Amino acid sequence: MPSQPVQGDTARDVSGWITDFRPTKDELDACVHCGLCLPHCPTFRLTGNEAASPRGRITAMRAVNEGVLTVDEDFEEMLGFCLGCRACEAVCPGLVPYGRLFEGARAEIAAQRPTLVGSARRRALGRLLPLRRLVGSATTMAGLLQKVDGLLPNPLRKRLGGLRTLSANPQSSLGRIVEPEGTPVGTVGLLSGCVMDPWFGGVHEASIALLSRAGYRVVVPRSQTCCGALAAHDGAAEEARRLAAVNQRAFAGVDVVVADAAGCSAHLADYDHFVDGGFDAPTRDITVVIAEAIADGRLPRMEGNESVAYQDPCHLRHAQRITEEPRSIVRAAGYEAVEIDPDGICCGAAGLYTLLRPVAADELGKRKADQVRATGMTTVVSANPGCEMQLRSHLGDSYRIVHPVELYHDRLVSHANAGTR
Ligand code: SF4
Ligand code: SF4
Repeated sequence: MPSQPVQGDTARDVSGWITDFRPTKDELDACVHCGLCLPHCPTFRLTGNEAASPRGRITAMRAVNEGVLTVDEDFEEMLGFCLGCRACEAVCPGLVPYGRLFEGARAEIAAQRPTLVGSARRRALGRLLPLRRLVGSATTMAGLLQKVDGLLPNPLRKRLGGLRTLSANPQSSLGRIVEPEGTPVGTVGLLSGCVMDPWFGGVHEASIALLSRAGYRVVVPRSQTCCGALAAHDGAAEEARRLAAVNQRAFAGVDVVVADAAGCSAHLADYDHFVDGGFDAPTRDITVVIAEAIADGRLPRMEGNESVAYQDPCHLRHAQRITEEPRSIVRAAGYEAVEIDPDGICCGAAGLYTLLRPVAADELGKRKADQVRATGMTTVVSANPGCEMQLRSHLGDSYRIVHPVELYHDRLVSHANAGTR
């Protein structure tokens, strides 16, 4: 239960927080209530409601911190409706670290308002999602269901429709060591992730091939685990902490840790919040490393006259402020990158949001799909698996949704094949 204010007990913390992931007074006081974030917030745009805005949520957190409010049902609803997209953080003049506040508040909700379903879900995110055999079996099952698509009920068909065509026997990147081509420039440790291997193996294949060609020795440590982003997002902070400690050990000794899913790279960049010292090495999203290699001539620029739509994942654009690098990869692959949304509003994927808040997630997904259709493009480039699934489930199979490194790698391979004919 939340701690309540106690009259005359000056030694006691009057705040309603009970975990050490709590939002701090300094972080909360950084908000000056200017409201500049409101038009950038998807849930405020959907509702026009201050309680569904970043400012409203921060005000509620501050009230809990001061012992004026408790972590009650209303507080849980306010934070449960938030996507954690961090669009508010990117535009905030006060530099409010909203992502940390959000995860801290979710950890408090998990600790103070445990439910059977919520606790089981958080435990599953920390304990089951990292089990590769289990994810592999679920993938095989999902692959079989994809084959009987017409017989499935609508909600399940829609969710499965977001996945790529699954292989019954996916290749694992775990344990691979690939030597560099040309002059070595360093060792990259690649995060294989929880579902990237079985569901998005093509992204790993393209990443490994390009990193090696750019001069990196690539290692995919077998002892690594899920990055913990989904757990942290859902308030399972202790589970996220445990997973971060495993990865800290697994990636010791590499020069740079790279993730090729935007949600994972954003979480790795915040590891010092979960485990003392974070990683020894810097962490990078794959798009930054590949764009750098293109810029200094370790990877080629190619010609072409086609166009593709480019979608900004929130965890690149807002959480890491990475916008130019993925576009530069698209251009280097010989494509024009057509913008679909100047505001970079969340597509509604947001971790488990499509499962926990399907109505809002569907509305945001529909709006994003309409923006794609308005461009006239039938290929969409996106660097995050959640966005890819959300786009595919709303656009259908006639659209190609592809990671920027896959787009670039495919073009590289077709150029090489054309040259050998
Ligand atoms: S979070 Fe930032 S942008 Fe939003 S009201 Fe507070 S200070 Fe202003
Ligand atoms: S994280 Fe996204 S949904 Fe949540 S308050 Fe910020 S802008 Fe709104």
